[in-house]
Amino acid sequence: MTLANLGLSAEVSAILTRLGVPQAKLSGGTLAVRSPVNGEQLARLAEISAIETDKAIAAAHEAFLEWRLVPAPKRGELIRLLGEELRTAKADLGRLVSIEVGKILSEGLGEVQEMIDICDFAVGLSRQLYGLTIATERADHRMMETWHPLGVTGIISAFNFPVAVWSWNAALALVCGNSTVWKPSEKTPLTALATQAIFEKALARYVAEGGKAPANLSTLLIGGRDVGEVLVDHPRVPLVSATGSTAMGRAVGPRLAKRFARSILELGGNNAAIVCPTADLDLTLRGVAFAAMGTAGQRCTTLRRLFVHESVYDKLVPRLIQAYGSVTIGNPLQSSTLVGPLIDGGSYERMQKALAEAKAAGGKVSGGDRVLQNEAADAFYVRPAVVEMPAQTGPVKEETFAPILYVMKYSDFDEALTLNNDVPQGLSSSIFTNNMQEAETFVSARGSDCGIANVNIGPSGAEIGGAFGGEKETGGGRESGSDAWKAYMRRATNTVNYGKTLPLAQGVKFDVG
Ligand code: NAD
Repeated sequence: MTLANLGLSAEVSAILTRLGVPQAKLSGGTLAVRSPVNGEQLARLAEISAIETDKAIAAAHEAFLEWRLVPAPKRGELIRLLGEELRTAKADLGRLVSIEVGKILSEGLGEVQEMIDICDFAVGLSRQLYGLTIATERADHRMMETWHPLGVTGIISAFNFPVAVWSWNAALALVCGNSTVWKPSEKTPLTALATQAIFEKALARYVAEGGKAPANLSTLLIGGRDVGEVLVDHPRVPLVSATGSTAMGRAVGPRLAKRFARSILELGGNNAAIVCPTADLDLTLRGVAFAAMGTAGQRCTTLRRLFVHESVYDKLVPRLIQAYGSVTIGNPLQSSTLVGPLIDGGSYERMQKALAEAKAAGGKVSGGDRVLQNEAADAFYVRPAVVEMPAQTGPVKEETFAPILYVMKYSDFDEALTLNNDVPQGLSSSIFTNNMQEAETFVSARGSDCGIANVNIGPSGAEIGGAFGGEKETGGGRESGSDAWKAYMRRATNTVNYGKTLPLAQGVKFDVG
């Protein structure tokens, strides 16, 4: 079967029906959805207007007022059921992710597994929203902190993790007692419709079991940037978690700050790895190849800059170029494929522009050419590129969302560390070494300045147990594990006087009778 006649729209329609999305929603609208696998049109969806968005947010606020009264462990039960529904839907939803985004099937399924994992995490969390009890200086008093829900949590997501990003935010926001309003990428609305239908199945089971939940607890807004802007500016949305490019973050961050709303900004990454003289080169080769080529370079944590010590450069880099030349590129739904397509033609053009600039700056390019255009003229498959650069200049200092790995030689560890830190978009980073001093320095205060710093594992592929993100340019958004939940709640400090006197603030006398 060639790329041209995969029959993806019929398959998508069948998957969406099984997941509970009515057929009527898939046609007649203004938003055309295409698969990057072969350019086939999959659906035409209706987009929400600004007035309807405003009404939806007002309804989500009403939902919040009720949901915050449900005890947190009971809220956790809804998320437990969501995890069960996701397990049942995993094969369908994972395949839909692959069709809509073009990532290989194992990665599509892996993304759904992340959703399941964050549900498990959030269920436990629903019994652990701890505040401190604090020693007070006043006799017969108790001081403690209490965590309360915030309100409507706005979620704006990027195309490349079309469903996991929603779940990292929604699972936490919901157990914390918030309602959620989600504006997915306009490039991936079908997986969003499917996810919303799965959520509604979990909600129906929760209510059938006697659970109390308001209508409009989770709302989906299908539309473009303008719909995202309404969400960002809405006074009923105290927190917006926005995932996407730094350009989007630059537009969204100040708008939220203007009305004193909170933000979690998960933006682009220009991630690096350092390969030291003692590195295990077999392990490094595998780690680098996956981190740089996986998801066709379309992960926020994709490895884009590689600093290789001069003593191992000639042992590693030729093997890497060979691996790049032999990797299987093609239909992401076939199990033998390792690299699927770019999301669209715009992405392909940006990749070619970056390669031309790198060449002009003295870079030696291997790969990067377009393949399979004879099979699917409207799809954009490329051979991943390795570019040996004389220095960290030009496009090396920007995130190009495509599979380009810039490789540079270094001689001194401190120099490599400085180069690692010398870009604004530091999100994730790695070091490959068996030297304990180098490894520990890399993760220390004077080491990598990124939100994620790894040793002997590539920069991509985060686990939900840890707080994800932390791009230095934005002050670092944090989602998913660790204590990321605190961003979805507000802290109150409570002082209780169980004595018969009223001590005032230190040294203050204020007698009124
Ligand atoms: P994008 O910035 O083009 O769009 C992301 C989302 O923001 C979309 O839903 C879009 O409609 C919305 N949006 C854009 N401008 C907006 C505005 N002014 N107001 C409100 N909403 C707006 O990003 P993309 O191309 O979909 O995704 C790729 C980018 O996302 C890459 O830079 C990648 O590194 C980043 N990303 C980051 C993370 C992370 O966790 N740090 C995860 C995934 C992707």
